[in-house]
Amino acid sequence: MDKQHQRKVAIVGAGAVGSTFAYALAQSGLANQIVLIDQNKDLVQGQVLDLLHGDPFFPTVSIREGESADYHDAELIVITAGSAQKAGETRLQLLQRNAKIIQSIMKDINQQNPTGVVLVVSNPVDVMTHVALQCTNIESNRIIGSGTVLDSARLKQKLSQFCDVDVHNVHAYMLGEHGDSEFAAWSMANIAGTPIDEFFSLHQPQSDWHQIKQKIEEDVRNSAYHIIDYKGATYYAVGLALVRIAGAILRGEKSVLTVSTLLNGEYGLDNVCISVPCIISNSGVTKVIEHKLPESELNSLHTSAQTLKNAISKLHS
Ligand code: NAD
Repeated sequence: MDKQHQRKVAIVGAGAVGSTFAYALAQSGLANQIVLIDQNKDLVQGQVLDLLHGDPFFPTVSIREGESADYHDAELIVITAGSAQKAGETRLQLLQRNAKIIQSIMKDINQQNPTGVVLVVSNPVDVMTHVALQCTNIESNRIIGSGTVLDSARLKQKLSQFCDVDVHNVHAYMLGEHGDSEFAAWSMANIAGTPIDEFFSLHQPQSDWHQIKQKIEEDVRNSAYHIIDYKGATYYAVGLALVRIAGAILRGEKSVLTVSTLLNGEYGLDNVCISVPCIISNSGVTKVIEHKLPESELNSLHTSAQTLKNAISKLHS
């Protein structure tokens, strides 16, 4: 079977995020083969068995435990390995611990000469994407981070609830770091083509929109902290966000998604992996969309990039 029809996805890390993604991916019918890889052999065996018992209910898919040789012909390798964020811990504090894990996985991936796309999910995801890029010769468009795809979904959900309109008609993006310095690109937000400010002033002229926007943005930024406080980890929505990205890659959709990608002068930034709207297809990022951001949003993007650059330099110090 040629690679195009193989639709093989290798998932490294069979913990909460990796297994939830595997489950959602199996249900989606997007992949023909799903291989789960984890250093915890009991865990990965248990996850595979549990998923396999869903076979009669999934669209036809092969699910099994994998090994590093599976990287060679996977169309997509998704890295969710690492320690999860602990209560009160910032994503940047995970830095040193997870960088070592990413480096060791990328070493294995490199040895297999992969032709597919590598999608990094482990946090802090933008820095880990940078770390992954630094230890390989794979073209930078083929190594991407899940970035703010999840955060943009959270923003859309909040706006949909607030404006009382179907979430599928809400178009809005969180940009920058997947973390504390991310921001809502309000200049790009619209509901079925109507700019969000206009929609709001037409439908809720009595309310203080400025204050509401601030609250929505803050809620999105703090979402992960709240969920982790309540139940220890986040995995359902991120699992679905990963299926969305996987679909764009496996089907060559050319979808616009805010993944974390290495910038080379776009938005006046370089040498940093950060989320901006990108076109995603079989080969990963095929184009970075350079939206003309207003000065305040461009400043926020630059501040966020600086936060990430500081984190990267800490890693090397
Ligand atoms: P988890 O602890 O449940 O699972 C992590 C798994 O990685 C464990 O099973 C562990 O055995 C495995 N692992 C560790 N080192 C490995 C290695 N070298 N090779 C293979 N497997 C290895 O954690 P989780 O809740 O699944 O979270 C995983 C990562 O995803 C964390 O870094 C978390 O912060 C991140 N995350 C990212 C997003 C996002 O939007 N980017 C959202 C949620 C979680």
